[in-house]
Amino acid sequence: MILQPRPRGIDPMDATPRPLRRPASVVQLLRQVRSSLAYLKASGCTGFDCSAEGLATLARLGIPQRDMRTETVLPVDQGTPTETGVVETMPETLDAIRADLGECTRCPLSRGRSHIVFGEGDPRARLVFVGEGPGFEEDRCGHPFVGPAGQLLTKIIAAMKLSRETVYIANIVKCRPPGNRNPEPDEIRCCLPFLKRQLAAIGPQAICTLGGVAAQTLLESKTPISRLRGRFHEFMGIPLMPTFHPAFLLRNPNKKREVWEDVQKIMKTLTA
Ligand code: URA
Repeated sequence: MILQPRPRGIDPMDATPRPLRRPASVVQLLRQVRSSLAYLKASGCTGFDCSAEGLATLARLGIPQRDMRTETVLPVDQGTPTETGVVETMPETLDAIRADLGECTRCPLSRGRSHIVFGEGDPRARLVFVGEGPGFEEDRCGHPFVGPAGQLLTKIIAAMKLSRETVYIANIVKCRPPGNRNPEPDEIRCCLPFLKRQLAAIGPQAICTLGGVAAQTLLESKTPISRLRGRFHEFMGIPLMPTFHPAFLLRNPNKKREVWEDVQKIMKTLTA
């Protein structure tokens, strides 16, 4: 006898519990509501529930790690139904993403590198900084933002009353472009899925892009950084603040005030 699969959900006598999945559209909506409230809070609005508790509740309901992954980056993981019937899929871990990256040779940048600079910091960071790509020092040691620009970034993070250990720092590409040139579109295309998976695994409350390449890549924009910076945009449902690259600040210290204004806006949106 050939058993035909039974169509699901049309037999009124069939009491088999069906796992419920929170629809992607609902998750997206929750994320947008959260991001709008965060924006209103940063703008000083008090007419809505902009409290830290309200924003944290929305962040929990949105469960960004799980759903961003299934929506945009990886095949859907069927997960395991819980007692309530809700499918709980485990967020991908940063270690698993690192293992999948392996000794990457997906693009020509691999040929000139000494070390892959995967990114580092708190795997549950509320804030992720995204730079352009490793420079000489970073390539030598495998850690992001350790050269002169990195030291300035460390100071900016400290001025935000955070530390390198409580944020996460990554780059658009994970291998050093020769002579510190901008990464090519093909190199970015190979590397970006890994950054997206890192962001999905971390589920931060905000992203701060450093410099034009990072902002224009994530926002798919050609607008100069001087016009993108200073206001929140959105990437994967996460509020994104573009600001100047610390290397640019080293050459133009008079721009530090703008960066300070940008990061203060981020500080106002971060909830406990
Ligand atoms: N500049 C970047 O954009 N990233 C680094 O990791 C170091 C310098």
